[in-house]
Amino acid sequence: MPALLLAVLALLLLAAPARAAAPTTGFESRNGASFTTHQEEQAFLSAVAQGSPRVRITEAGRTKENRPLQLVEIGAPGPVGAEASRKRPTAMLVCSQHGNEPAGREACLKLLRDLAFTEDPALVGVLERTTFLFVPTANPDGRAANQRANQDDVDINRDHLSLDTPEARAMAALVRDWQPDVLLDLHEYGPSQPVIYDDAVLWLWPRNLNADQQVHDLSIEMGREYLVEASEAAGYPADEYGQAEVVDNDVAQTAGDGDEGIMRNAMGLRHVLGILIETRVDFDVRESELGPADQAKVQRRRVDSHLAVLSGMIRFMSERGADAARVTAEATDRKIAEGAGRTAPVYFGGADNEKPAAADVVNPPPCGYELTDAMVAELEPRLGLHGIRFDRMDGRVLVPMGQAAEPVIPLLLDARGERHKAEAKPLDNCATASGRPGEDTAGGGPGGTAPGGTPVAPPAPAITPVKSSPSCASRRTVAVRLPRVRGKVYRTRVHANAKRVRVRRGVAYVQLRRPRTTVILRIARRVVRPGGRRVLLKQSRTVRVCR
Ligand SMILES: [Zn+2]
Repeated sequence: MPALLLAVLALLLLAAPARAAAPTTGFESRNGASFTTHQEEQAFLSAVAQGSPRVRITEAGRTKENRPLQLVEIGAPGPVGAEASRKRPTAMLVCSQHGNEPAGREACLKLLRDLAFTEDPALVGVLERTTFLFVPTANPDGRAANQRANQDDVDINRDHLSLDTPEARAMAALVRDWQPDVLLDLHEYGPSQPVIYDDAVLWLWPRNLNADQQVHDLSIEMGREYLVEASEAAGYPADEYGQAEVVDNDVAQTAGDGDEGIMRNAMGLRHVLGILIETRVDFDVRESELGPADQAKVQRRRVDSHLAVLSGMIRFMSERGADAARVTAEATDRKIAEGAGRTAPVYFGGADNEKPAAADVVNPPPCGYELTDAMVAELEPRLGLHGIRFDRMDGRVLVPMGQAAEPVIPLLLDARGERHKAEAKPLDNCATASGRPGEDTAGGGPGGTAPGGTPVAPPAPAITPVKSSPSCASRRTVAVRLPRVRGKVYRTRVHANAKRVRVRRGVAYVQLRRPRTTVILRIARRVVRPGGRRVLLKQSRTVRVCR
């Protein structure tokens, strides 16, 4: 366990073993030598639920091999259920939907246990205002077989629009019923080449252009200001997924970008701050001259780096959970209005980092789509799972765009959508369909109802009190001398709080644009060692800039 600087995680870890009733995972009891088995997980979850009044475990579905897809809900003093959770800040964790990426699942098991048993008053306070949802094993068949896809060889993380798999369907139903404000999707990656993708943690937000702009922006803010900060404060360098550095130049990599089948995008389309987290699976030999460490140590690092990111998520929910709940509720209202007023284009291509082709931009968009009964039957149960409402009018089936599911509708129902499941007729005149409540709704969930206008909790106090003094609040530049290295430095690149900073003669000049007490420096230097060997040195430093 590296020295974690975030008080929240430290408190979690200290608090957990104090209670005799708190069980340990198989991974913990073997000190990381191997991952928790399915049977161990089931016994562990039962013990957590029996030992803590804060926990409720329900089944959200079954896999092809009949393993349960479970949801663990945590709140204090007890779980509040879906209806109350829709009205308060709610975060959902999807753990290891790729079955051969088990570290996220281990981190989830540990965190849900720690939240269930913590006696730290600040954390209990967060649990009183916030619902935490875990799908601890999102692909149980894939995990059992240690493979990426599910038992039908479908990549679940391309299926969140099409909903062909029982796993993606279960998660879609959970999102519809609980309307989480934040969703973290936990993965692992193996860097194929040195230098490209070598950070301990990578992350990415919803890039699909149909996602609500404020949901998009707050997702990025959460990532940069909370997830990256927590990760780097714990000693895990973090960067954006799809952005690799090659010899100090940023190189854009293809990483799914706007693909609406990927969870982070599908969540953005459903007004959820959807974030992909990838942690590095292997040991970076450049970090030590002693060579690779033992496997258990590497596996503990894989789990710990996820936990560091999750501590940032908890801090976000504590400090900004009410903002997230407001933004996601307002996004629902905005998309209903946009769809009804046809005031925003629909994008069938492009991403926030890729200009869409002219043919992929439809402006004004259709006011709705007309389906046949055969299409409705064939789409079953997807309309309901996406919360798409439809009306029956004079023997026709009409899907109006003026509803909460507006961003999903064209991508699913229009032949121009890359992953469409029907070729419905786009409508230019919806006069008969608009303004009326649905006579018929798909599915039984509350999808399509706007939670806008529901009261949300007042802003929550921070877990970690930030000390401030007048000198911290002023906008200024702080000079930080970089640590000495052995050999001659021939290239230096420094980021402070994820922004590039100017360096001259071994001193980084960090501009403080808002009050901060600490700055996290990520230092990458190319060095010629005294023997002539060239190495890339990466270091992370947390610097206190005022008191
Ligand atoms: Zn993955």
